[in-house]
Amino acid sequence: MGNNAGALKDSSSEAAEVKLSEARRLITECSDDELLQGLSRERDLFSLSNPEVIKLLIDELIRRKVYPETTPEENPNTVHQMVSGWGAYWHIWKGTLECPHCKADLRDHKSGPPGVRQIGVIVDDRVAYWECPDCKGEWNRDFSPAKPE
Ligand SMILES: [Zn+2]
Repeated sequence: MGNNAGALKDSSSEAAEVKLSEARRLITECSDDELLQGLSRERDLFSLSNPEVIKLLIDELIRRKVYPETTPEENPNTVHQMVSGWGAYWHIWKGTLECPHCKADLRDHKSGPPGVRQIGVIVDDRVAYWECPDCKGEWNRDFSPAKPE
């Protein structure tokens, strides 16, 4: 993709064609990881990104079963909307996935990734610490207990 880096930032129709043919090449030649990286780069261009390229790459990631065909029922967004809002790696849960106190699974399986169940407790307009929805235990970002035990 290196040689086309300049063209990728140009929003002219010629550049859009270059991007589209590059995306078609990615689809036939690249691994799942490379496809995700390509989608991530394109999506991060925001208003300069090519919607056709994005759609092509997402459809291919669905075809390869990297992405699910649809998001879970309780997630109102489509897979395409998830990429737009959360980025190419929306399908992978990140952060604390297990309560450090009761070991509950904190992934939100009803709405799917990247949804998590822990509650961010806001102090002075920022999340100061997290609370487990099951045991109400608290922890800081670095996993230490929010209050001395
Ligand atoms: Zn817990």
